[in-house]
Amino acid sequence: MLDNFEKLWKDALFEIEPNVSKANFSTWFKDTSISKYDNGVVLIDVPNDFVRERLSTKYYKFIISSLRNLNPTIRHFECLIVSKPRKTEFIDKKQITKNSQSNEEQLGFQDFNIDTEANLNPKYTFDSFVVAPFNEVAHSASVAVSKSLGNLYNPLFIYGGVGLGKTHLLQSIGNEIRKNKPSAKVHYLTSEKFANDYVLAIQNKNISLFKEKYRKYNLLIVDDIQFFSDKLKIQEEFFHVFNALYDGNNQIIFSSDKPPQYIVGLEDRLKSRFEGGMMIDISQPSLEERMAILRVKMQQKSYLISDEIIDFIARNIKENIRELEGALNSVIGQSKIRGKILDLKEVEDILKRKIKPIKIVTVDHVIKIIAMYYNIEEKSLSEKTRRQEIVKPRQIAMYLLRNDLNTSYPYIGRRLGQKDHTTAIHAYKKITNDIKNNKSLEQEVISIREIIFKA
Ligand code: ADP
Ligand code: MG
Repeated sequence: MLDNFEKLWKDALFEIEPNVSKANFSTWFKDTSISKYDNGVVLIDVPNDFVRERLSTKYYKFIISSLRNLNPTIRHFECLIVSKPRKTEFIDKKQITKNSQSNEEQLGFQDFNIDTEANLNPKYTFDSFVVAPFNEVAHSASVAVSKSLGNLYNPLFIYGGVGLGKTHLLQSIGNEIRKNKPSAKVHYLTSEKFANDYVLAIQNKNISLFKEKYRKYNLLIVDDIQFFSDKLKIQEEFFHVFNALYDGNNQIIFSSDKPPQYIVGLEDRLKSRFEGGMMIDISQPSLEERMAILRVKMQQKSYLISDEIIDFIARNIKENIRELEGALNSVIGQSKIRGKILDLKEVEDILKRKIKPIKIVTVDHVIKIIAMYYNIEEKSLSEKTRRQEIVKPRQIAMYLLRNDLNTSYPYIGRRLGQKDHTTAIHAYKKITNDIKNNKSLEQEVISIREIIFKA
């Protein structure tokens, strides 16, 4: 008999927690509970659609195996959304139509009105930032920093792929500070701008002015610091700026397309400074999240698009939010030009140019990239050896072939020189598991994947 749901879920979470990063755990498992058990099926209450989707796909195996460990009669679980959707997902429509016109106009005007001292674009605010689980942690850390400059997370380091909202968040912090504390000295720039300024200062022989300038800020935001890569002299100069600001309790915020340890040609002492603060990633938005963003953006633009078309755009534009917004703008623009609401076929035609053809990736291609990545010979991946420098790449190859290409285990086994398929199954399970506990392995697999699928 299974009746103490609270205890069951608590015990299950206790097992799940060590396998999931802290941020993910709180994002995906908070506000969940078990509400029912019937004939082998457990019902898990979840707060929204994002969580439902994530628990029933990515975390399904995890959850079900810990539940079954606790009670073997459990066969399956389902999620039920119990509370209202997040308020950020669906903004009150009436309010939108009331405000949007003036907002739009204001934005158009404000675009040219960049605060030159702070170098902030006023359109990037927390208000216009859509929060969803994939960026929720980065968002709340940014809000927290804007409320407690220099004291809480210093430095704050946000990383993630292009077009996922890093600049938007960083500038929102700056704008928030400018609004609430006009006396604070705020400055936003990219690492490239910093590098150029430095070179100019050298040329013009006013390096002391340069040093002074960057040491006076209460909040310095440096975007895209991956461009410091290999610029050692500039890194050295920046290191001193960082220390001066930090020692004076001033806030420093960074973004990058990858975590510091993966930025090639970045000095160790800078890496350790970056890692000394708070590091947060923005991950890729899921389908549901892309749809939610489109809905909010559509409302902000006071334009109505059918669910079918939202679904079509979100399914096909996966890379990032910038492209998602670009696609939405094209559809709205065309619709205005043609003076009518577009049907799905017309939208398909418009977006055809924007949608990248899916790259067909072969087994050979994957093996070639893995060999290249680990600097070993392709044929050694199929050798019968237990040498660690071969075993690990081979297991990753097996994992990727299974996970990303859906290749059959027997084929994977044969192709990589094994007699039977159990090695492939073992490798798949091992890497799946190891990734969860090993950030650097996870990042390795992400990097390999990027190379494999690069168009
Ligand atoms: P990144 O700096 O990570 O490359 P950006 O901050 O430049 O990405 O974002 C790209 C575009 O997408 C910008 O126009 C930004 O306003 C928009 N955007 C990104 N994330 C969000 C979000 N969560 N809500 C609303 N707009 C977003
Ligand atoms: Mg950016």
